[in-house]
Amino acid sequence: MEEDYISISTLNDFIFCPYSIYLHNVYENTDESLFHATPQTQGRIAHETVDEKKSSTRKDLLQALPVYSEKYGLMGKIDVYSVKEKYLVERKYQLRQIYQGQIYQLWAQAFCLQEMGYDVERIAFYEISTKRTIPVNLPTMRDVERFEQFLHSFRHYDLTQPFFPNQNKCRHCVYCNLCDKTTEDNVY
Ligand code: SF4
Repeated sequence: MEEDYISISTLNDFIFCPYSIYLHNVYENTDESLFHATPQTQGRIAHETVDEKKSSTRKDLLQALPVYSEKYGLMGKIDVYSVKEKYLVERKYQLRQIYQGQIYQLWAQAFCLQEMGYDVERIAFYEISTKRTIPVNLPTMRDVERFEQFLHSFRHYDLTQPFFPNQNKCRHCVYCNLCDKTTEDNVY
């Protein structure tokens, strides 16, 4: 059932702060200008370019393809996948650092594509602001186990447990001004 599916785009957010997933759900249909900070907006515009299929017209490229995995209960969208090169790329406007959650998101996209019948032999991030490609390793067996454990903890996260926010993260969180767990002010 769809409600059991995890959105791939929330995997990194969950690692950043599990409570942000709750807020994400609460504000899902809200005017995004209420909380989207500049870096996030730039990231979104990068994605919209792909979504609108302006970035390339090459026929073997699948862009903004909705993907899902029944095995993992995941759903989302890929950025760019080359059928010929079996190559999956996720574009980001800026990548000062790559977080484990972002790698999980890329792996998740690859798992979905594979389950849908596409081969994936290479995966990478592409930083738009510097035109830099950053290759990422495909998951090993051990990585897959860790990924599955991570999904399990995501699914079984208990919002009623005591929660102690990391105020340093709150200052950089898109939900900072709307979150009941912090009195921090947003810093970008
Ligand atoms: S403001 Fe802090 S506690 Fe609230 S969602 Fe963001 S990081 Fe989590």
